[in-house]
Amino acid sequence: MINQLQEKYQLSLLLLLSSVAVLGVFPFALIRYFEGNLIAAIIDIVLMLGIIVLVAYSHYSKNIRIVSAVLAVFINAGVVAIVRANGIDSFLWVYPVFASSFILVRPIEALCINIIAGVSLVALSDIFTTISLVSYIVTIFILSLSTFVYTSHSEKQFRLLETLNTVDALTGALNRRAMSSDMKATLSNSERNGIKPLLAILDLDHFKAVNDKYGHAVGDEVLKNFVAIITSNIRQYDRLYRFGGEEFVLLIPQINDQPHAFIHNLRSKIKRELKTPDGKEITVSFGIAAWVPGTTEDSWLKRADDALYLAKAKGRDRAVFSDATEEYPLKS
Ligand code: GH3
Ligand code: MG
Ligand code: MG
Repeated sequence: MINQLQEKYQLSLLLLLSSVAVLGVFPFALIRYFEGNLIAAIIDIVLMLGIIVLVAYSHYSKNIRIVSAVLAVFINAGVVAIVRANGIDSFLWVYPVFASSFILVRPIEALCINIIAGVSLVALSDIFTTISLVSYIVTIFILSLSTFVYTSHSEKQFRLLETLNTVDALTGALNRRAMSSDMKATLSNSERNGIKPLLAILDLDHFKAVNDKYGHAVGDEVLKNFVAIITSNIRQYDRLYRFGGEEFVLLIPQINDQPHAFIHNLRSKIKRELKTPDGKEITVSFGIAAWVPGTTEDSWLKRADDALYLAKAKGRDRAVFSDATEEYPLKS
């Protein structure tokens, strides 16, 4: 989920930039051709076709980051080639191309590509007998540095936005928006590869009574502790989402062949660690649904919710699987 927002943004930038580049280069390819400058016309056409092919490929492969990086290297190499072939007439293209690198790749990567292209230009072309090398270095330096600072800053803001968009502010668990997107990805992965994920809804028992007895602030602390306990006891790709209030969803993208043992261990950890300020135990009920072929987002949540309902009805502090198997209350 974290990357999806950025990927969509990156794809729209890629499309915008490539359309502008192709429309900008096309008239020059014609002019070079009619001027009889065949080499420059061919370089322009190769540049245009390369951009079109790369953008089309990014659309199908969905590998936007790699395509953007290849495109950045490609247009930088292209501008060095065109300035070398066409001399001073094409020199001004260096500026928009260097600025575009920062749109295509991470600021530090763009800086490195620009330095390599900038130095190659000095080494390979003879235009610096006509224009001042010092002016070139100073203007390129100012352009690259200011764009670097600006894009680094906006990259940080983007990350913050992604966090705000996907993380629950109180507990630090992921939110429902992230959950829905991850569930879709997990389901399509399972349908394709037959990998068996597991979904559990976890609901704190009698949480209203905790609030009533100890106050809302203590209730908040309990929720935070609960999330900390779960997140420190699940694996790297397992995810915890705040479903609402004191209800959480745990998504295990690939469960081993002993889901009962996994849930049992998790419940033991909660039993040992989740307490009120005066040391009283806070119990949790689990409703668990294993993935079966044909599962949809709604049917998965419904099966887990029905199992949770049963766990509550049977007296709480237990885990009920949607196939009706049950994990009973643990001994303290
Ligand atoms: P059950 O065992 O049936 O789940 O009982 P319960 O009391 O946990 O469930 P109920 O739905 O009656 O109450 C949920 C409580 O959770 C009520 C609400 O005040 C509390 N709650 C929801 N969100 C928050 C929160 O962000 N902070 C705090 N402190 N309490 C919350
Ligand atoms: Mg509850
Ligand atoms: Mg509830």
